[in-house]
Amino acid sequence: MSTATLKPPAAFAPARTLYVKPHDWPFRWLVESETNRAQPHMVDLSSYNGNGECSCLNFACRLAPELRQGRHASNSTRCKHIKAARGMFCDMMIRHHSTSSHHTGATNQK
Ligand SMILES: [Zn+2]
Repeated sequence: MSTATLKPPAAFAPARTLYVKPHDWPFRWLVESETNRAQPHMVDLSSYNGNGECSCLNFACRLAPELRQGRHASNSTRCKHIKAARGMFCDMMIRHHSTSSHHTGATNQK
């Protein structure tokens, strides 16, 4: 079950409409900026107790202060970059765990 046994993807891959790339596996990702493609945003999925943290202005100016005031983590405390990185991370986890161990692909089978 350890994420350390998972290999990160080798290159940029699409998640939603933004491109994400692992930076420091498994929690730190670079996510494409729509306003400046040469400068991707840094996302750390483990920050703020699992909410995630992003280097974009939306997160720094609007969402981070709310989290510091005690707002609970949810999709409304995450910018689109955090959501994109979480989407990719989740896709990889699901793929990894559905193709490994005892899963056969059949339903209702134990
Ligand atoms: Zn962001």
